[in-house]
Amino acid sequence: MTFQQVYGYEPAVRYSAPGRVNLIGEHTDYNDGYVLPFAIDRRTVASIGQRDDRLIRVASAFEPDAVHELSLDELDPSRMQGWSAYVFGIAWALREQAGADLSDKTGFDVFIESDVPVGAGLSSSAAIECGVALAFTDLWELGLDRKTLARVGQYSENHAVGAPTGIMDQSASLLGEQDAVVFLDCRTLDTAVVDLALEANGLEVLVIDTRVEHAHATGGYKARRESCERGAQVLGVEALRDVSVDDLPRAQELLDDETFRRVRHIVTEDQRVLDTVRTLREQGPRAIGDLLVASHASMRDDFEISVPELDLAVSTALEHGAVGARMTGGGFGGAAIALVDREARDAITTAVTSAFAAAGYREPTVFTVHAAQGARRD
Ligand code: ADP
Ligand code: MG
Repeated sequence: MTFQQVYGYEPAVRYSAPGRVNLIGEHTDYNDGYVLPFAIDRRTVASIGQRDDRLIRVASAFEPDAVHELSLDELDPSRMQGWSAYVFGIAWALREQAGADLSDKTGFDVFIESDVPVGAGLSSSAAIECGVALAFTDLWELGLDRKTLARVGQYSENHAVGAPTGIMDQSASLLGEQDAVVFLDCRTLDTAVVDLALEANGLEVLVIDTRVEHAHATGGYKARRESCERGAQVLGVEALRDVSVDDLPRAQELLDDETFRRVRHIVTEDQRVLDTVRTLREQGPRAIGDLLVASHASMRDDFEISVPELDLAVSTALEHGAVGARMTGGGFGGAAIALVDREARDAITTAVTSAFAAAGYREPTVFTVHAAQGARRD
């Protein structure tokens, strides 16, 4: 299906935005901490035609034959159905969150296509939001910068779609650059682009999608957030970001064992993000392997969000020569990443696939991602 087939004319412009992988920094976002994602070379493309009335129409290759429409005069989350909220929600959030005056604007015909796998933890949601946000801002000449657009995307996902997510995904999708990671301070929203330099070092990132989705992912996420809030409250800080590794012995005295281990994950993970940034700058990507491995162990043992499939993906990749590996994303399923020598990629892929077969697990999807440029007009 194409724009032309849906709307009967050729689109005027195309915008695209990438999904993302988080290199390190898991569950730190809602603790005001640090994350280190990168935009990947899998993108969602929004093809757009200008209308001269107030209507926005959206269609997606994701759901052939359906065209959703909404007037700019009726923008409200209660009028947005299913995935169309990811598009209409952006227009709404541009007005509600960024204060854009849309009263004299005209609408668009929008067609969405994507090669970001949906629901695999690579943030197809941010890819659609950010491509659309950049397009609408440009075409309506709103003059909003990319950090503002990241907040618009998050606001839309939180309040139009109704998913309680942080700002990491949108920041990566909008601010990513080729062969670089985006260092994001989730408290100040300061960002810095840090060279990843995988290309020059003969390295690649493998994504191992376990295709496991656990029913208790939502409940598990909520319980982890509550543990973190409880920990911060008992320790008398605004957020766990304010606790340092040196404070952990005191935290252990004050907290019950489970809450302490949740806190220890967040506190050490924040430190690992800072260490990863410093290591990338001073020594390059080959030196970050141990940090990735320590991050995985912390999520497995302290935060308890891994699953056997993720542990097997990580241990098999490491046994077959990966520089580092860890689960990535919220946990309870989803994907692991492995930092590997380009020449070792095929052997590691085969080893992981065989190990999954031997364990009787569903066959994983394994593919390489490169750190790519953020949202753009194509
Ligand atoms: P993830 O971001 O990890 O891929 P989410 O559940 O956050 O998973 O977002 C997936 C949802 O985003 C889909 O269920 C759909 O509603 C919407 N979405 C993503 N990509 C597209 C697309 N190309 N066309 C339409 N909707 C999409
Ligand atoms: Mg998402």
